[in-house]
Amino acid sequence: MDSEDFRLWSHKVADWGADYRANLRDQPVRAQTQPGDIFRQLADAPPEQGESMETIFADFERIVPPGLTHWQHPRFFAYFPANAAPVSVIADYLVTAIAAQCMLWQTSPAATEMETRVVDWLRQALGLIPDFAGVIHDSASTATLAAVLTMRERALSWRGNTDGLAAHAAVRIYATAEVHTSIDRALWIAGIGASNLVRIPTQGSLKGMDPSALDAAIRTDRAAGLIPAGVIACVGGTSVGACDPIGAVADVAHAHGLTLHVDAAWAGSAMICHEFRGLWEGIDKADSIVFNPHKWLGAQFDCSVQFLKTPADQVRTLAIHPEYLKTHGHDGLINYSEWSVPLGRKFRALKLWFLLRHHGLDGLRTIIRNHVAWAQELAARLAAEPDFELVTQPVLSLFSFRHRADADVNAHNLTLLQAINDDGRIYLTQTRVNGAIALRFQAGSFDMTRADMETALEVIVTLARRITT
Ligand SMILES: *Cc1c(COP(=O)(O)O)cnc(C)c1O
Repeated sequence: MDSEDFRLWSHKVADWGADYRANLRDQPVRAQTQPGDIFRQLADAPPEQGESMETIFADFERIVPPGLTHWQHPRFFAYFPANAAPVSVIADYLVTAIAAQCMLWQTSPAATEMETRVVDWLRQALGLIPDFAGVIHDSASTATLAAVLTMRERALSWRGNTDGLAAHAAVRIYATAEVHTSIDRALWIAGIGASNLVRIPTQGSLKGMDPSALDAAIRTDRAAGLIPAGVIACVGGTSVGACDPIGAVADVAHAHGLTLHVDAAWAGSAMICHEFRGLWEGIDKADSIVFNPHKWLGAQFDCSVQFLKTPADQVRTLAIHPEYLKTHGHDGLINYSEWSVPLGRKFRALKLWFLLRHHGLDGLRTIIRNHVAWAQELAARLAAEPDFELVTQPVLSLFSFRHRADADVNAHNLTLLQAINDDGRIYLTQTRVNGAIALRFQAGSFDMTRADMETALEVIVTLARRITT
């Protein structure tokens, strides 16, 4: 492709993207295709000869959009949001066009230096103390893996990478049952094993970790000759928004010489608003925190930020040439690939820089506050309907509910969920609370308005009564 065609098609694609976003409100949120519908339309062998862009693009327009679930839809209330604010899409286009590998300072100084700067902007925005430095990963799963590997190495006196794990007693990590499955997978991949993920009981309506149970579990393990390595807490768990008491958990962890990693992948973005920070009280005691600007904050996927008190520990774990004596901070040269698992890295800081400058923190706070207010209003109005009950109260903009039924409440609510998602005006997903099905609602789309909350109420209530009669 020559540069004139590159220019022409870049313009066309930009037009397509703007039209796509502008028309989303009229589309069903969840793809309405059947399994295999898209696969059957794709050629079963690669072309020997190149094809024209006109042909490729016409096929794209015909085949792909019907098979999309529209994550940027204003009435996407499923899972958690994955907002890509238009300004971050524009920045990401620049990143794609530049296509630099940003693993070392010298492989693109602008990327490294901007990363240091915007991660510190986010630290300030979240109200964290200056002791935290940070790095941008692709996903929270990768950040948590890096944190778990660091816990493991620290606990094994930095011998695990060299000896392997067979040479040591079992390494133990502590978390509740509310943490995301990325924690389980981090333990698998780190070689620690799922059976060494010790589940600590929860208490209270926020389903937070019981600190005294944590203390007892660590003592028991140590007495048995096992190696307690670290604690993983959550703020805004994926199922129903569980929040561990961070300060109390950190105190127990530190009393035993363990470190604490906090997964706030979704809820972390809300901490740009002062009034929500009670949910992670004591956060400044954490050793590592992950949150995903690619969820609620509006940064195009992928963009996950990890804050670290002692980045040198993570570098010692992950750098292939340990540089114990170098300064990994503001006055040294930073090679961010040494802070993370993959070597190659995108220039992810650019979309944060554009995003934060375009919206300003105040603009982002307004968006998040609206989501929280609308979700709480919807929860109250559903709770006021005689045939609905809230299963869990709103945590920020997430709550769960169910429609009452005379028999088989689980099947009834799954039927309702199917009816809602087939209808297409809104998109919801389910979870289990104490073993029973609950429908989740989270407000988080950047384009959502209060009227979209009204639509959600109408769709939920009307379809529930229709499938009941
Ligand atoms: C979404 C989510 C994750 C996983 O995030 P990825 O960036 O997709 O790896 C982990 N923890 C929590 C609490 C989440 O909400």
